[in-house]
Amino acid sequence: MFDDGHSSIRLAHSTGLRAAGSVDAAAPLKLLVLGALPFGQPDDERVRCVGNPLEPFDLAYVPGNAGGTAFAEFVQSANNPAVPVITHGNGLGARADAVLEHTGPGDLVHACTQLAPLAERVQSLPLIPRGAERPALLALALAVSRQKPIEASWRPGSRGVMGYELLTGLDEPRTLLEQLADIGLFKRRYHERLHACGHCGGCRVFAREVCSRCSSSDLAEHELLHHYTCGLQAPEPVFKRGEGYECPKCRKPFRHYGVDYDKPGQVISCSACDATISDPDVFFVCADCGGETDSEQAQVVRFYHYQLTAQGVSAAEAGVLPMLGRPGDGYQENSLQEFRVMVQNYVHIAERVERPLTMVRFDLQAGRGMALERGLVQLFTLVQETARKGDAVAMADGCVLACLPETDVSQVQPLLDRVDRLVSAQLADGFAVHPHVVPRERVLTLLKALH
Ligand SMILES: [Zn+2]
Ligand SMILES: [Zn+2]
Ligand SMILES: [Zn+2]
Repeated sequence: MFDDGHSSIRLAHSTGLRAAGSVDAAAPLKLLVLGALPFGQPDDERVRCVGNPLEPFDLAYVPGNAGGTAFAEFVQSANNPAVPVITHGNGLGARADAVLEHTGPGDLVHACTQLAPLAERVQSLPLIPRGAERPALLALALAVSRQKPIEASWRPGSRGVMGYELLTGLDEPRTLLEQLADIGLFKRRYHERLHACGHCGGCRVFAREVCSRCSSSDLAEHELLHHYTCGLQAPEPVFKRGEGYECPKCRKPFRHYGVDYDKPGQVISCSACDATISDPDVFFVCADCGGETDSEQAQVVRFYHYQLTAQGVSAAEAGVLPMLGRPGDGYQENSLQEFRVMVQNYVHIAERVERPLTMVRFDLQAGRGMALERGLVQLFTLVQETARKGDAVAMADGCVLACLPETDVSQVQPLLDRVDRLVSAQLADGFAVHPHVVPRERVLTLLKALH
């Protein structure tokens, strides 16, 4: 599994036998060149340039002008998206392991040899398969091989405003990291708390203060004046008359601060409707979709940095995500515990807001000589395929459980039909599946009985 056609790299750092950069027996480093080199190919036996991202390589050169989509494609389809990256300029941020300051084949070779130990570390990890698990496994591999947390940083040019440079090329890195933190592979460290647009979810919003009477934003702040003689308090412009003041209530002119009047504070007045207000209403206007969101109803998004946990390091080194692992990997215990906590929350919420929720228990029976465990993993995968966003699926002793929020007992049949179709088409012969529908009020009792 680990020997997947990869080239091996032999270097002083790992063997302790040769000096770095020595010319003897070490196999050349395979450098994938994405696009074109801005200079001639290096003529050096330590580095060999290759052009096919689908074949094995040890490092990658990405031109400084490579667009975001080119790198996203590399991340998605390249043989190994975790290799050290060499580039020009700062377009890749922390994802660049070396940035060339001068342009010449000699600098490129130098960068390659400097990065050889890192390349070797990456090659020692299991190869990251293409497909659904790649983003999570890549995040783990990058964090473990670079030995640093995945840090959030400001990205004013993007809708989310906050980015994760190390995960350049991946969609929705925050969602991914949150999921990985939820299952214990990363630990969160607080970074920032921002308001989000209620329409598109972006965080590029501007606070906009408006008149609470007419909603105009044409507001001005004024000193509040208090006329001692008659007690009138009003914004300063109301009193202004030439060099001094004249009271619009008692019609007396006055001039001396502390004798005739004082300034107890500030007020906001609306130039559109002349209203005087103490606190304007605040809305967030979205720079991306133009939508307005009431500040009191705006969602708050918390951004974190993410540090690998010991569990995360093991997952990275094994190249297996615990949620998708096999029984015996410690999968069942952890996952069932998480499932229980999640479902308990779902049930409490559903009860509080009086929404439906249903659980389905798919009991699995194995024929003579069949390994129940193997069938369970298959069944689990099939049920997961039919699950909607927000559903929770887990394996337990001899059964697979699906918790379906926002679903009434009477609405479960289509799911049962879909699972039934998949089971008859894909589950190995010799297994039989018996679904049991559990209504909301019996879900917690069922959870307690699970092992
Ligand atoms: Zn928006
Ligand atoms: Zn107004
Ligand atoms: Zn007055």
